[in-house]
Amino acid sequence: MKKILTLSIASILALSMAACGGNTDEQINEDTSNTTTDEKVLIMGTNAAFPPYEYYENNEIVGIDAEVAEKIAKKLGYTLQIEDMEFDSIITAVQTGKIDMGMAGMTVTEDRLENVIFSDSYATGIQSVIVKEDSDIKSIDDLEGKKIGVQTSTTGDIYSTDDYGDEYVERYSKGADAVAALAAGKIDCVIIDNEPAKSFVAANEGLKILDTEYAVEDYAICFAKDNTELRDEVNQALNELIEDGTVQDIIDKYIPAE
Ligand code: GLN
Repeated sequence: MKKILTLSIASILALSMAACGGNTDEQINEDTSNTTTDEKVLIMGTNAAFPPYEYYENNEIVGIDAEVAEKIAKKLGYTLQIEDMEFDSIITAVQTGKIDMGMAGMTVTEDRLENVIFSDSYATGIQSVIVKEDSDIKSIDDLEGKKIGVQTSTTGDIYSTDDYGDEYVERYSKGADAVAALAAGKIDCVIIDNEPAKSFVAANEGLKILDTEYAVEDYAICFAKDNTELRDEVNQALNELIEDGTVQDIIDKYIPAE
């Protein structure tokens, strides 16, 4: 009796599943999820505190780099996975293979080229100086002897340490923290990339960006030195996206013309 009951429940279940096509669908779903194990994943490391290149919106990392990377991954048949980390961990993460590439508004520099290789450049960066509106710093020439805030290991940090001396440079793990220190009067200025500078100034009263640019740079994607294969693949996709205007459209979406 018991056995018959079990059987009939099983056959009812089987029938109802067949009726709604569940069985077949489930079979297909299982097959797809099995193939996801050999899905090609592209892991990008970034520091998502750098608007408009990478920042959080509704718990998701968005921005120019995130969108360009998504397009590159799609063209190459990869699923993009973004890992958020400290800016100064990105190069090591690339070198040790923890991530496949670093994309973080990262400037190509001679020093970095000793540790990683770069893609072609996809954007221009400018190092700008943020000061309080009533600051006595009127131009780059007034920076000597001032307390300069920077984001650790960025080009703003490297150049200002070289130009003004280590004792004048205050390092913060996030650009926003450096700007908060400036607003609180703890430091005299912040040297940081122009686009994040604009959004930090917009978010804090009483700050402005100096008209003179401190440095002009090229942003590119970095890879492990021996990973020329992925770098070349990415370059191919990136250049197609530059040529067909996709990269410019993404930049224009995040940086509206003034
Ligand atoms: N462009 C700067 C650099 O490469 C800053 C990048 C960043 O803070 N994400 O050092």
